Amino acid sequence: MHCLDCHAQGATTPAVGICRACGAVCTNHARVITHEVHRRPFLAPPAETPVRSVRCFPCAGADSR
Ligand SMILES: [Zn+2]
Ligand SMILES: [Zn+2]
Repeated sequence: MHCLDCHAQGATTPAVGICRACGAVCTNHARVITHEVHRRPFLAPPAETPVRSVRCFPCAGADSR
């Protein structure tokens, strides 16, 4: 799989991550987002778990809105 953004510019860079929203991204185009997810486990106190996800720049911008 190749980076989607690089492919749009005519380059074929191997992808290192998958944008959760739109597809594959290379290191130059990937942004790793860490956010806390609130969990409410059954019969256990609520907990916050840090979750990482990979986004390309356009999608990261769309998410942070
Ligand atoms: Zn790229
Ligand atoms: Zn994306």
